[in-house]
Amino acid sequence: MKLNPHDEALINNLKDGSYGALMPIEPDQLPDREAYCAIVCGDGVRRKETTSHLRSITGCNCDHTIALPGGASLLAPESPLSDEATRKVLLEKGVAQARKLQGTKTVLVTAHLPCGAAYDAGITGVQLIDHIVSAKHQIRLFAAQHNISDITPVGLLDVEFSDGKKRTYVIKREGWEAWKQENATRQIAAE
Ligand SMILES: [Zn+2]
Repeated sequence: MKLNPHDEALINNLKDGSYGALMPIEPDQLPDREAYCAIVCGDGVRRKETTSHLRSITGCNCDHTIALPGGASLLAPESPLSDEATRKVLLEKGVAQARKLQGTKTVLVTAHLPCGAAYDAGITGVQLIDHIVSAKHQIRLFAAQHNISDITPVGLLDVEFSDGKKRTYVIKREGWEAWKQENATRQIAAE
């Protein structure tokens, strides 16, 4: 599966760094280098690669990974891939159990492009980034409700470009909101 041209243009526009919406991942951005919980897409081709890639960029040897098709999108209530039962499994069996059993304070909330599960559900690149931001919010809410306030979600987007290059970006909510606002303004001005 190839990244669709519209999403490739979106990523290329975002990754120039002017909004700070999409930043290349740096290991020292992670709040806890010991272990992490990861929510990743269960994609048959990419899952193993994603898991080993996350281990190498984080330098962590302990990951509590939950892999289901769609990754972060499953945690975003507005996503067509998400439902309450799945969110409950991800939060309780994933985030909370990893914190309890392995002490993981960092939750890597990941999605990837191109993603078969996302494309099949009609999810665009813009929506998928929204879902990562929304999934982080769900984790913060859950953590606050369950008195596990030391949980830090980190939103990641794994991209495979049409030329085969692969990059992992940290999604920053403030930059993303700024980009969307600017983009909406431009669209209105063009109409
Ligand atoms: Zn996928």
